[in-house]
Amino acid sequence: MAKKYKYPILQINLDYIYDNSKKLVDLCNQNGICISGVVKGFNGDPKIAEELVKAGCEHIASARLEQLIKLKKHGIAKQTMLVRIPMLSELEDMVGNVDISLNSEWETVENIEIICKKKKVIHKVVLMCDVGDLREGFFNTEELINLALYIENSLQYVKLYGIGTNIGCYGSINPSVENLSQLCLVAEEIEKKIGRNLELVSGGATTSLTLLLEGKMPTKINNLRIGEAILVNRDLQDLRKFNIEGLHQDNFILNAQIVEVKDKPSYPIGEIFFDAFGNKPVYTDRGIRKRAILAVGKQDIGDHDKLIPMLNGIQIIGSSSDHMIVDIQDCKQNIKVGDVLEFMMQYPPMLYLTASKNVKKIYKKNKR
Ligand SMILES: *Cc1c(COP(=O)(O)O)cnc(C)c1O
Repeated sequence: MAKKYKYPILQINLDYIYDNSKKLVDLCNQNGICISGVVKGFNGDPKIAEELVKAGCEHIASARLEQLIKLKKHGIAKQTMLVRIPMLSELEDMVGNVDISLNSEWETVENIEIICKKKKVIHKVVLMCDVGDLREGFFNTEELINLALYIENSLQYVKLYGIGTNIGCYGSINPSVENLSQLCLVAEEIEKKIGRNLELVSGGATTSLTLLLEGKMPTKINNLRIGEAILVNRDLQDLRKFNIEGLHQDNFILNAQIVEVKDKPSYPIGEIFFDAFGNKPVYTDRGIRKRAILAVGKQDIGDHDKLIPMLNGIQIIGSSSDHMIVDIQDCKQNIKVGDVLEFMMQYPPMLYLTASKNVKKIYKKNKR
C-alpha cells in the first residue's frame, strides 16, 4: 500500500453521501420541508454536489460565490443559493450566475437591482431575520418588513423569494419553538401585506433538524439549509444524542502515512514556553510512551482534535503545521514507519482537506 500512492489521501464515499442526503431529504419532505444542500464544507466539489442533487435537494447552496459559479459551469441541474450575505464587490459576478441570495442590507439589494436591470436577469432574495444568534439578519423586524415590501412593490428584477434565519453559528443558540415561531410570525405579517405566500421560510441549518425530530417544528417552516448532517453527521449524533437511523459518519476518511515511530517521554524536557502556533498546551507526564509521527498537519486538517482515529488504542496528542503526533502505546497492532493510519472527522478537517491541493482525493462509488 505504501508505494502505490502519495499521501495524505482523502477517501470520499459518494454512495454514503447520497444515502445521507436521501434520508434527510425524505425525512424533511415528509414534513413539508425542502432542503438546500450546502456544499461549502467540501469546497463545492462537483462530484459530491451531484450526489446531493440526485438525492433531491431543492437548491445547491454555498457561502462562497466561486464554488457556485464553478458548479454552474459544471452544469448543476438545481437553483443555486448564496448563503453568505453578498459583498458589494461580488454582486457583478453573482447576478446572472446565482439564482438566490440571502440578504440583510437595503443598499446591497438596491445594487443587485441595478445590475440585474443592466444584465436583464432576475435574482431572488431571501431576507434574513436575526432571532438571537447575532450573526447576520435584521434584528429589527420592522426594517425587514419594510425592505420586503419595497422589493415586492418597487423593484422589477429582484424578487422576494422568502425569509430565513440562522441559528447556532455565532451565538451558539439552539433552535426552539420560540425563536422559529418568531420567524413564522414575520413571514405571516409579510404575506398579509403582499397578498401572497412567500415561497421560502427557511428555518436554519443542521441544528434545526432537532426540532423536526422532536416533532416541534412550526409548520410554516418549509426549508432548511443542510450541510453538516449530510456530510459528517457528528453534531446531531455525538453532541446532541439524536440518532437518525442509518446515517453514515464515515463519508470522509483521511489516510496519513507514518514517518517516525519511537519511544519517548510524554512530558517535554526543558522550560515550557509556546508551541508552533503561539499556544501554551498542557502536558501530562505518562512516562515513556510509544508514539508515531504522521506526515499531515494543521495546514491540511485545521485542528487535530477534530479527527477521530479508526484504529483502537490510538490517541492524537498534538500537531504543528505539517506534523501530527499520535500515542500508539495501547494499540495492539505492530505499527511501523510507512504504515498508513485512518481517521474519520468532524466538519473542520473536511473543510480543510477538501480544499487542500496537497491532499489526493479518492472517490468511492459502488452501488450505482
Ligand atoms: C453554512 C451554513 C449553513 C449550513 O450549515 P450546516 O451546519 O453545515 O448544516 C446554513 N446556512 C448558512 C447561512 C450557512 O452559512
